[in-house]
Amino acid sequence: MYDVVVVGGGIIGGAILRELTRYRLKVCLIEKQSDVAMGQSRANSGIVHAGFDAPVGSLKAKFNVLGNAMMENYAKELSVKFKRNGSLVVAFSAEDMVTLSELKARGEENGVTDLKILDADSLFELEPNISKNALGALYAPTGGIVCPYKLTVAVVGNAMDNGADLYTNFEVSSISGKFGDFTISSQDGQNVKTKIIINCAGIGCQKIANLAGDYSFTIGGRKGEYILLDRECENFVKQTLFFTPSKKGKGILVSPTVDGNIILGPTAKEVDDANVLTSEEGLKEVQEKASKMCENVPFGQTITSFAGTRAFCDRHDFIIEESKSVSGLINCAGIESPGLTSAPAIAKFVVEKLVSSRIDLRFNTSFNGHREPTDFFNSLSIEQKNQLIKEKPEYGKIVCRCEKITEGEIIHAIKTNPPATDIDAVKRRTRAGMGRCQGGFCQPQVAEIIARELGIPLEKVTKFGKGSYLLRGKTK
Ligand SMILES: Cc1cc2nc3c(=O)[nH]c(=O)nc-3n(C[C@H](O)[C@H](O)[C@H](O)COP(=O)(O)OP(=O)(O)OC[C@H]3O[C@@H](n4cnc5c(N)ncnc54)[C@H](O)[C@@H]3O)c2cc1C
Repeated sequence: MYDVVVVGGGIIGGAILRELTRYRLKVCLIEKQSDVAMGQSRANSGIVHAGFDAPVGSLKAKFNVLGNAMMENYAKELSVKFKRNGSLVVAFSAEDMVTLSELKARGEENGVTDLKILDADSLFELEPNISKNALGALYAPTGGIVCPYKLTVAVVGNAMDNGADLYTNFEVSSISGKFGDFTISSQDGQNVKTKIIINCAGIGCQKIANLAGDYSFTIGGRKGEYILLDRECENFVKQTLFFTPSKKGKGILVSPTVDGNIILGPTAKEVDDANVLTSEEGLKEVQEKASKMCENVPFGQTITSFAGTRAFCDRHDFIIEESKSVSGLINCAGIESPGLTSAPAIAKFVVEKLVSSRIDLRFNTSFNGHREPTDFFNSLSIEQKNQLIKEKPEYGKIVCRCEKITEGEIIHAIKTNPPATDIDAVKRRTRAGMGRCQGGFCQPQVAEIIARELGIPLEKVTKFGKGSYLLRGKTK
């Protein structure tokens, strides 16, 4: 019997799981996919928002500002890259300039510090590639960038190192029992028993709540499509550039990623399912809008496009509470943007306020919040690299030539919590396959390493779990 079961291996479920391991509790995470970070936490902008956007008094505003302040230490402890690059909301009309003043006032009420309105000259000085039609901007130096899936892998890995269990390929299809004695089951016969359930299933939150008997909210999907530019364009912009929000929405952003790419997007289109396919129409919209924001966007350096689906809810705010109809069910639902930013603060609140009201929490004195870096090789000095290669020759063999990822790092990803068992899982942890050729050269080698390290036939290696096989069998 678990004390707490967390359903959903995104950043929210992962951060809560890690927070739970600070206490002497038996806990686990259930995820329907083959790996964690496969939902919204895989495909998003990776912006650590400053907090001027959310309505005053909302949970979004509260957790955004708290999470932003926590993120630097949080990422450091987990050895995940974070950069406070600052953000700019750019005005293109007199009406936009009025909105910037409103945003500044709202941000200050939310507790965002150091907000400043810039005139066009100061803006061009900060961002020379911005469109000459820009009139000014709201500057938020506390805005930042982080890699969302690396952060998710890191929180889950650290929770596992501190004793949490992880069940992947476990799609919750029924929930029975009551507070103190729930049974959570999958269609293929997996069962776990728990006293408390924390529902962090993203776009699946409504289904999990309904299975437990809570019908108090609905969740819809809003797809966002992106274009990613090569790291050769690293200095195209330094800050995260947003359009001034209007009645038509927030528009797209142009931003560096923490790994040195440039990200353009996302669009916003309501969808009935969580499919993450890109479309010609969506990518065209991204190109058109990015060209309004900046001069000469280097679209020729596009290396990939992708999409993610936001889980938005009918209450238009985060739902972070114990269900009113099902005792012992804690819902973390409708966690759309700024959910990534808010995750550290949400996790702390859920455990310290909601879980603690149901179970006595006693500190786990052996908790260690530090996680060793996983993709560290490129940051070593030449002497350190040589020393490591002497000790472990697998670090002397480059597998991904675009991103310069070694066999040693890939083996490490397969053997470290949460273990990578397919090609995309290796990619999320090491960046092997994320460069210019998008895995064209290294994918077969990565597959061979996975097969060898897991002791499985090469034909059984998948791209992203469940049936996504690469090979049909031997021809010669
Ligand atoms: C396009 C886009 C852009 C965004 N940009 C930003 C940004 O820049 N900054 C920011 O702060 N936030 C951003 N967000 C929001 C942020 O990504 C989310 O708030 C955050 O990732 C939510 O995490 P989560 O853990 O709640 O959900 P998810 O990451 O979706 O995780 C839910 C998990 O539950 C699993 N699951 C679902 N149903 C079941 C079931 N029946 N059984 C078992 N498992 C199940 C899913 O497979 C999934 O892995 C963006 C979101 C999107 C989509």
